[in-house]
Amino acid sequence: MPAPTCFSCHKTRAALRRPRSGQALCGSCFCAAFEAEVLHTVLAGHLLPPGAVVAVGASGGKDSTVLAHVLRELAPRLGITLHLVAVDEGIGGYRDAALEAVRSQAARWELPLTIVAYEDLFGGWTMDAVARSTAGSGRSRSCCTFCGVLRRRALEEGARLVGATHIVTGHNADDMAETVLMNFLRGDAGRLARGGVLGSTGEGCALPRCRPLQFASQKEVVLYAHFRHLRYFSEECVYAPEAFRGHARDLLKLLEAARPSAVLDLVHSAERLALAPAAKPPPPGTCSRCGALASHKLCQACALLDGLNRGLPRLAIGKGRRVLQVEPPQPGNPSLVTSDPVAPAGPCTCKQPKDKANPCGNGGDRAGATCVSQCDLSPVAE
Ligand code: SF4
Ligand code: ZN
Repeated sequence: MPAPTCFSCHKTRAALRRPRSGQALCGSCFCAAFEAEVLHTVLAGHLLPPGAVVAVGASGGKDSTVLAHVLRELAPRLGITLHLVAVDEGIGGYRDAALEAVRSQAARWELPLTIVAYEDLFGGWTMDAVARSTAGSGRSRSCCTFCGVLRRRALEEGARLVGATHIVTGHNADDMAETVLMNFLRGDAGRLARGGVLGSTGEGCALPRCRPLQFASQKEVVLYAHFRHLRYFSEECVYAPEAFRGHARDLLKLLEAARPSAVLDLVHSAERLALAPAAKPPPPGTCSRCGALASHKLCQACALLDGLNRGLPRLAIGKGRRVLQVEPPQPGNPSLVTSDPVAPAGPCTCKQPKDKANPCGNGGDRAGATCVSQCDLSPVAE
């Protein structure tokens, strides 16, 4: 049977049927509709005001490639300027090739590109070094937890470096639905209640960030890349198979097979979730080391780096742990190298009970003692 005529232009044969609406469109009309929907998301959500200097988190993967391309198309209408910011996590055999893809995109689209590296920002720590360190403590599965926190920080640093006023990332609807599922499975009410918003307005000293592809399905992102002939890097990170997100992705596929609207239903249900007043956490303060927003004494990034620098990475993850980190860094330990501009942590003063018979009090009398319960350690999106 011949393909139907495009539902939109009524001239060309349709090349696809939109996964959600079932509309039969030609490639050109599909791409125009996709761009119009992203434009609507940005305008309706007041995400990127005219004059904004936008740092686009670029990884070389399909999502950020499509995001950069669409925003480049829309930039004149939105009155914004784009700057690609890529993060080099230091993952041998993976990120180097992905960064090559970003470099060639920047050159082809004539967009400025800045690359920031974990190694430079975080006192010599690369993701490979973090993986070795966490594997040593039997927690290699936590790589993405570390990476997610550090990459968020690195992107913020890169955006500031280029004078950006806003940050955008390429998360699509499937990513958001996976995150909602993960937050449910972890019982993370705070993140669930925040999960539906299109981005943050820039609380504390953070730059506003948003996800213009939040309502675009993964299938349509891939279709857009196909019809616009976009080249992207599609290999999986070497640490991805260990990530909890993979289980959420499998579960989502099963749900979608039974109920095709499951992805968007999850995204929209997160928009409507609100915490009961009694369950609301106290308003966040600022990290005592870096000034970032934090619900405890240290923000997540500083808490994770603190654990790594002490050679005790397992203490920096795990919800609700109340363990004393009492060992000072050892000579020759890479933990002596730190990007922290503030002096090493002093004795703990949080007065949290270490156990029934032995209150934390001051974390002991050795320098470097910190009670982990002071840190912002809730699990993060992987
Ligand atoms: Fe980082 Fe995990 Fe993504 Fe790899 S899969 S880049 S370790 S968050
Ligand atoms: Zn901090």
